[in-house]
Order: sequence, then structure tokens, then C-alpha cells
Amino acid sequence: MTIAGFSKVGIIGAGQMGSGIAQVCATYGLDVVLSDIEQAQLDKAQHSIEKSANKLKDKGKITDQQANQISNAITYSKEMKDHANADLVIEAVSEEENLKKAILRNIDEIMQPDGIIASNTSSISITRLASATRRPQKFIGMHFMNPVPIMKLVEVIPGMQTESEVTQKINNLSIGLGKETSTSKDYPGFVVNRILMPMINEAFTALMEGIASAEDIDKGMKLGTNQPMGPLTLADFIGLDTCLSIMKVLFDGLGDPRYRPSPLLVNYVQAGWLGRKTGRGVYKY
Ligand code: NAD
Repeated sequence: MTIAGFSKVGIIGAGQMGSGIAQVCATYGLDVVLSDIEQAQLDKAQHSIEKSANKLKDKGKITDQQANQISNAITYSKEMKDHANADLVIEAVSEEENLKKAILRNIDEIMQPDGIIASNTSSISITRLASATRRPQKFIGMHFMNPVPIMKLVEVIPGMQTESEVTQKINNLSIGLGKETSTSKDYPGFVVNRILMPMINEAFTALMEGIASAEDIDKGMKLGTNQPMGPLTLADFIGLDTCLSIMKVLFDGLGDPRYRPSPLLVNYVQAGWLGRKTGRGVYKY
């Protein structure tokens, strides 16, 4: 299957986002290589993809044929060289600029020269990440939302040097994967996290100040503002480490004290309570 000119897609980082992106690409018939440095993460990704595909099939959200093709379409790998022939590589490793740049430098050397590289970063400058490669014109932000198989949006972020043809192709691919797109300029946090993350951060500060219990903060925001879940529950879903990294990018990049990470969020991360993925965050799982 080819969508918008893409048939072979590589995904680097098999955490919650990388595995979700791999699942969606495979559902729509693309040939996927999902890589990670940790074998345990690849095993976990395979398990969660199969579980999620079965659930979506039972709910009638995907067809039997789509569910069946997913396991054949994904190759799980610890080798970056398995991305050499990809038309598109999507980087989805942890939200750390230096880590991402090192991986991007490496993939740029390995991957065929016409290939496009996208980053699923939540907040880090696409132009700066692109500068780690020799192909900034073929580099773009492709920000999927969590959980990827369910959430409709892909936020597309062209960097300063991204060719308009590349932006168009990534938009078309996203639509071909059943998503809708919005386009944001390359400023810290783009649009979604520039607006969402300060709300989550404020929820931590409200909790720290003892204004309400975690349960009541979430209940207030869920029932009072018609959100599907409260901001503290959402933070546990996203990963508290990721939330903190995004706040740091907003604070450093925009220089305004209103983006200062909440000390309580910092404490949780320092305690190793990262949310659902570690079984302990604001809540226990
Ligand atoms: P995660 O912690 O679940 O997964 C990160 C993965 O990267 C891990 O499996 C880790 O082993 C892997 N990794 C680390 N170093 C690596 C390396 N050198 N080579 C290969 N793999 C490596 O994180 P996540 O929540 O999936 O987030 C990934 C990216 O997606 C981040 O940039 C994050 O900001 C972004 N994002 C996250 C969400 C969310 O809700 N969690 C939403 C949108 C975007």
C-alpha cells in the first residue's frame, strides 16, 4: 500500500507514542519498522499493539482484515540500519533535545537521501532538530496525539527550511491515516501544548497549594469544563516526565515566568513517579 507516496515507514522509539504510530500506519497497510534501544520496550509495544488492535476490532472501529494485517506489517528491531530504505522515518523517543539530535544525526547518515524525517516532539523547535541533519528541507514536525489509534489530530509543524511539498505530503499522509491536521508555526510547544500544558501545570500548583484534592481538581475540570478527563489524570496518561520536559521548553523558549514548571510536578518526576507508564504518578495504578 502507498499513501501520499509513502509505503515504507520507520518509527524510532517504541514507547506509548511510537507504538501507537506504528499501529496506525500498519492498520492502513504501510510497511513499518519499529525500533528501540530496549528489547523490553519492543516486547511491550508488540503486546500493546495486538491488544489495542483486538479491542478496536471488537468495537467495530477497524475491520478484521485491518486487525489481521497489523502483526505482519510491523517489524520490531533494535537496529537503526533497518530504517535505511524507509520513505519516511518518524522519531518518537523521549522528549530530550540532545537525545533526539543524536538519533537524528545518526538516522540522517543511514537513511536513503530522498527520505523524509519527521519528529513527533511535543514542544522542541523543529528548526533546531532539523539542524542535526543534512536535510532540513526534508524535515518536519508530525505531532500525533495520545492514544494515537483513537485521537483524530495530527499537528503539522514545518520548520524554517521545510519544503512546502514535504508539508503537503505529510498532510496528505495524515489524512490517509484517518486523521485531521492542523498547522502550527515553529514556536515552543506549537499550539496544542502551548495551551494545554500551562493548564496541567496550574493544576499541579493548585494541588501543591492545597486548594483542592487531586480528585476534586480533576472532577471540577472534567464536569465543570466538559473535558473527557481532569488535567491531573491527563498528566499521568501523558507521562509526568514528558509534561515537565514540555514546561521546561516553554519556560526556556518563551522566557516568561508564567511557564515556570510547578515545583510539585518537579518533585513527582524527581521521585520517579512518571504516571501510568510507571504505575505511580499523581494517582497509583
Ligand atoms: P515513552 O517514554 O513512552 O517512550 C520513549 C521511547 O524512546 C522508549 O521506549 C525508549 O526506550 C526510547 N528510546 C530512548 N532512547 C532511545 C534511543 N537512543 N534509540 C531508540 N529508542 C530510544 O515516551 P512517549 O510518551 O512515547 O513520547 C515520545 C515522544 O512523543 C516525545 O517526544 C513526546 O514528547 C512525544 N509525545 C508524547 C505524547 C504523550 O502523550 N505521551 C503525545 C504527543 C507527543
